[in-house]
Amino acid sequence: MMTRDKIETLSGISTPDWPTISLYLRIEKERIDEDFSIRLKNLLSDAAENLDAMYSHEQREAVLSDLGRIKEFVRDRQDRYGRGLALFVNGHDSLWEALEIPSQVESRISIGTSPDVFPLIRLREQLEPFCTCLISRDQARIFYGHMGKIDEIDEYRDEMVPGQHDQGGWSQSRFGRHVEEHVRGHFKETAGRLFATAEERPFRLLVLGGTDEVVAAFVDVLHPYVRERHVGTVRLLPEANINEVYQESCRVISKWLEGEKQRVIHALRNQAPEGELRATGIGPTIEALQRGQIMTLVLDASFETPGAVCRNCGSLQIPNQSSPSNCIYCGGSLDQKDNIVPDVVLGSFRQDARIIFLDTSEQQQQSADIGGVGALLRFAVTTGGTQ
Ligand SMILES: [Zn+2]
Repeated sequence: MMTRDKIETLSGISTPDWPTISLYLRIEKERIDEDFSIRLKNLLSDAAENLDAMYSHEQREAVLSDLGRIKEFVRDRQDRYGRGLALFVNGHDSLWEALEIPSQVESRISIGTSPDVFPLIRLREQLEPFCTCLISRDQARIFYGHMGKIDEIDEYRDEMVPGQHDQGGWSQSRFGRHVEEHVRGHFKETAGRLFATAEERPFRLLVLGGTDEVVAAFVDVLHPYVRERHVGTVRLLPEANINEVYQESCRVISKWLEGEKQRVIHALRNQAPEGELRATGIGPTIEALQRGQIMTLVLDASFETPGAVCRNCGSLQIPNQSSPSNCIYCGGSLDQKDNIVPDVVLGSFRQDARIIFLDTSEQQQQSADIGGVGALLRFAVTTGGTQ
């Protein structure tokens, strides 16, 4: 399964001696036919033919053998991988990692000195985990998932909440209080289950479903840690089918994520003076990254810009006119890159930053003001001097 830990582990793997193959394959179940096999064959043979000239004979042989194993694997197991497959292979370093990708990807293959996890990070954004809880006075259902799919993980009916026919010899007002106590107990029980869910399977966004009155009373008893995740409410009955729950939840979540993008773009364009709580443009963003400050990275999904990575200290930098081939921090030699953006994204991911890709043309136009990339920062940097 594709989890944050898995991406982190893969991103930490370095294979300087033997090339690692990263394959992303789009799978459309209904279209696994001869065309699919031909496309796969072409992808693999292109990779074999366009191998970098710097590889030795032994390295080339290793890649060809790995490509052969990949071909067999996909041929035999493709139907076990929903909409997409990511495969990271390096036979010499005993690396073989196959991940199901729950959303469609563009097929691509790359060969290098580490697994190419950039597409996984990009997908992760689309697969933000969320929780939906349908709540009524005596029932609760909890769903967990992302915009690709949700599952019902808990269902619960409180048999103790009395119905109208249970009034018996009770006076109207005493019976009313008695019922309300039970309902409150049921809300508390459900709130406890939601908190346990959040600990077991982290989620940042919570959707609640029910009548306004019930949801308002339920929100009151939620643990603050869960309550702050509540991003929207849907009017669904407890017996709604999972498809309705999925559709309605996705609608609320997409709207909220869209709003979040707008808020972040706004903060980057208009907020506090430079260097305080934001960085805009590739240079300042990379400097903030070096200082471990990135809380939220925002970038135009099509943004690319050259840069370099220090072979000695690993720091990233933009092309430097005065010393084009040496690291500005340690003087080490630089590895020049046509596009430094994937390294910035990966570095931000490792700082546990939230990463927001802007993919509509309207958002991209807005982000042009900040140079295509920027970040909200975790802490302010004092620039020194007297106060
Ligand atoms: Zn350096």
